[in-house]
Amino acid sequence: MIEHANERQARLTGENDIAVSFEFFPPQNEKMEEALWQSITKLAPISPRFVSVTYGASGSTRERTHNTVARILKETSLQPAAHLTCVDASRDEVNEVIRSYWNVGVRNIVALRGDPVGGIGTAYEPHPDGYVNAVDLVGGIRKIADFDISVAAYPERHPESADWGVELDNLKRKVDAGAARSITQFFFDNDLFESYLERVWAAGINIPILPGIVPIHSFKQIASFSEKTGTSVPDWLAHRFEGLDEDPETRKLVAATVAAEQVMDLVDRGITDFHFYTMNKADLVFAICHILGLRPTTPEQEAA
Ligand code: FAD
Repeated sequence: MIEHANERQARLTGENDIAVSFEFFPPQNEKMEEALWQSITKLAPISPRFVSVTYGASGSTRERTHNTVARILKETSLQPAAHLTCVDASRDEVNEVIRSYWNVGVRNIVALRGDPVGGIGTAYEPHPDGYVNAVDLVGGIRKIADFDISVAAYPERHPESADWGVELDNLKRKVDAGAARSITQFFFDNDLFESYLERVWAAGINIPILPGIVPIHSFKQIASFSEKTGTSVPDWLAHRFEGLDEDPETRKLVAATVAAEQVMDLVDRGITDFHFYTMNKADLVFAICHILGLRPTTPEQEAA
């Protein structure tokens, strides 16, 4: 056991081959903007491979995504990846957004179909003149410019996929259209993720699959979102947060422990790349990255 812990520690120190990326969402007001930038400032020195910014269905959210991505590009040395969906927009409108990203210097896009306008669980209706799904969107982006494109993946299957054949065929088509990597929906059961990787490899899909890790700031919120997205919440996880609704301090400690256990177990299974859903909060993600052996670098160290 001690030898095992040392082996793991050796992997997490020195020439650390662990890589991370962080996801943020565009802020809706000044207070949220301030919180977001505090988080970015705290997490940037960890030198993530990229930071992604989500995209909403409404026009104003779209603009906020663009503004956040542009500010990251202007004020930091981070590599921003802009999420983009097909929802409620014509091809011309989406193409315009893609070109505007290229023109301001964005080179990374997370290409998604997006959720139905009526909410998860209702039927998805593509815009009559729009991209119909993520495969179509990836192809469209590739025609415009040489972006690095990421797509979504689902270790527990997308709720609309009838079976694993449909799910894997869809991912394969996204790769064939030009996706360089995929980022997964969050999950809590590492065995399911490992089985998923085996299915992906057996299907001949060879792009990196970044596990999406969500530190649990609010168990209630995560449980409700899990139900919508088809993510299973193990009984042991619910048990860990039981009785803590009114105790944010303990909840935070438990959340850090749960997420650290999950990533350390993935490290033991050979995983070296992690994508964190930050919820625009730095503390838990920073702590987990620290445990992973990642330390802030100064601008001088970066330049050397
Ligand atoms: P797709 O890959 O197009 O597939 C969706 C489903 O439709 C799959 O089940 C697929 O099998 C099926 N399907 C696709 N095409 C066909 C076809 N021709 N025939 C039959 N079935 C088909 N949402 C946002 O609104 N904004 C975001 O910023 C955002 N970021 C995300 C980031 C990540 C990492 C993840 C995992 C999800 C994100 N989402 C976001 C949610 C995402 O938009 C939803 O999960 C959406 O329902 C599916 O998007 P997709 O790109 O996976 O779709």
